[in-house]
Amino acid sequence: MTTSSEIVIVGGGVVGASVAYHLAAKGLRDVLVLERETLGSGSTSKNAGGIRLQFSSEPNVRLSQRALAKLHAFQAELGVDPAFHKVGYLFLITEARDVGVFERSLALWQRLGVPARRLTGPEAGKLFPGCRVDDVILATFCPEDGYADPSSIFGGYVAGARRLGVTFRPGATVSAIEVVRGKVAAVEAGGERIPCGTVIDAAGPWASQIAALAGIDLPIRPLRRHIFVTDPVPGFDGEFPMTIEFASGFYCHRESGGVLLGMGDPDDPPGYDTSVNWDFLPKVVECALARVPALERARVKTGWAGLYEDTPDKHPVLGRDATVQGFVHAAGFSGHGLMHAPAAGELIAELLVDGMASLDLSPFRPSRFAEGALVAEHNVI
Ligand SMILES: Cc1cc2nc3c(=O)[nH]c(=O)nc-3n(C[C@H](O)[C@H](O)[C@H](O)COP(=O)(O)OP(=O)(O)OC[C@H]3O[C@@H](n4cnc5c(N)ncnc54)[C@H](O)[C@@H]3O)c2cc1C
Repeated sequence: MTTSSEIVIVGGGVVGASVAYHLAAKGLRDVLVLERETLGSGSTSKNAGGIRLQFSSEPNVRLSQRALAKLHAFQAELGVDPAFHKVGYLFLITEARDVGVFERSLALWQRLGVPARRLTGPEAGKLFPGCRVDDVILATFCPEDGYADPSSIFGGYVAGARRLGVTFRPGATVSAIEVVRGKVAAVEAGGERIPCGTVIDAAGPWASQIAALAGIDLPIRPLRRHIFVTDPVPGFDGEFPMTIEFASGFYCHRESGGVLLGMGDPDDPPGYDTSVNWDFLPKVVECALARVPALERARVKTGWAGLYEDTPDKHPVLGRDATVQGFVHAAGFSGHGLMHAPAAGELIAELLVDGMASLDLSPFRPSRFAEGALVAEHNVI
C-alpha cells in the first residue's frame, strides 16, 4: 500500500488518467490515482465519443485543436487505436435566433484555421442523405470532426500511465483533504491518511464535492444526459456525419451498425441520478423521426444515462487554485471531457512540472467565477 505520494489525483476517469499519464511522461513517478468505484465507471463510460473543433469561444476551439492533434498522434504515442471516425460534425440551425452566433463562429473558425464551412439546407442534405433539411436555415460542417471510442482513449491512458509507474487505486473514496496553513498536506481515503503536496481534482461531476473537502467553492453541477442506441436499420446503412439539430439538442451518429441517439432533457433538474428515464425516450424518438424519417424502421436496443459536469460558462476549470496551495483543478468540461482530456492532461502536466502551460490557461482559471469574468460558449447541447 502507498502511504504517501507527491501527487494524488482524485478521479479515475479519462481526465484523471490523462493527467496521470502526462505527469508520468514528464518524469514524475510518484503519482497516485484514487477512484471511488471502478476505473472509468463515471461519465467516461457514458459518453457519445464526439470530438469537435466547432465551438463558439476561442479558448474552447484552441483546446480542441490541441486535443485533436494529440488524438491523431494517439496510436503512435500510446500504442492504442482510438478508433477515430473522421466523419465530420454537421450542425443544423433551424431557428433564426441561432444564426448570428454561428455566423460569428464561422468567422472565428476561419481566423483560427478551423476548416468548417457554411452550408445551405440542400447542401447539408447531400452530406446526410435521408436527413430532413427543408427547415434548415443554415448549417455548418467541419470535416476534421468526428467520433472516437471512449474506452480505447481511456484504456490507452491508463495502460500508458501504469507502464510509467503510476498507481491506480480503485475502490478508494476520498473522504477528507487536510489543508494546513492554506496548503494541501494529505488526503484521506478508505480510512487511510495519505500525505501529499498536490491534489488534482479530476472527479468530473463530483468535482465540487472534492473541492468542498478543501474548503473551495466550485460551481460544477451534475446534469443527467441520455443516450439510446438502435439496432441496424434496414435500408439505412450508409455513413453520415455526427449531426446536431441545434435547437432541440438532438444528435445522432452511427454506432455498431445502428444509430446512437442523444438529447438533453431541459426539464431534468441538476442531480446525481443516472437511472434511465424511459418516459423521456418518446421525446427523443419524436425528434429523431422528424429529422431522420428512416429511423421509423429502427428498434431501440439499449439506453443509458450519465452526467455532464456543467460550469456556469460551459468551459472547464483548469489550473492551480488561488486560495489553497497545492490544490489543482481539472474538471468542469461541461459535456466535452472526452475530447478535451488529451489536451487538458498535457497542459496540467506542463503547468505542474515546467511551471507554465504551453496554451494560455487563464480563460479556464478557477477564480473567474468569483471575479464574475465568465467566457461564454454558445455551441453546447
Ligand atoms: C450522455 C453523455 C454524452 C457525452 N458525450 C460526450 C461527447 O460526445 N464528447 C465528449 O468529449 N464528452 C462527452 N461527454 C462528457 C464526458 O463523458 C465527460 O466530460 C468526461 O467523461 C469527464 O471525464 P472525467 O474523468 O472528468 O469524469 P468521470 O469519468 O466522471 O470520472 C470522475 C471519477 O471521479 C470519481 N470520484 C468521484 N468522487 C470521488 C471520491 N470522493 N473519491 C474518489 N473518486 C471519486 C468517480 O467515481 C468517477 O469515476 C458526455 C457525457 C454524457 C453523460
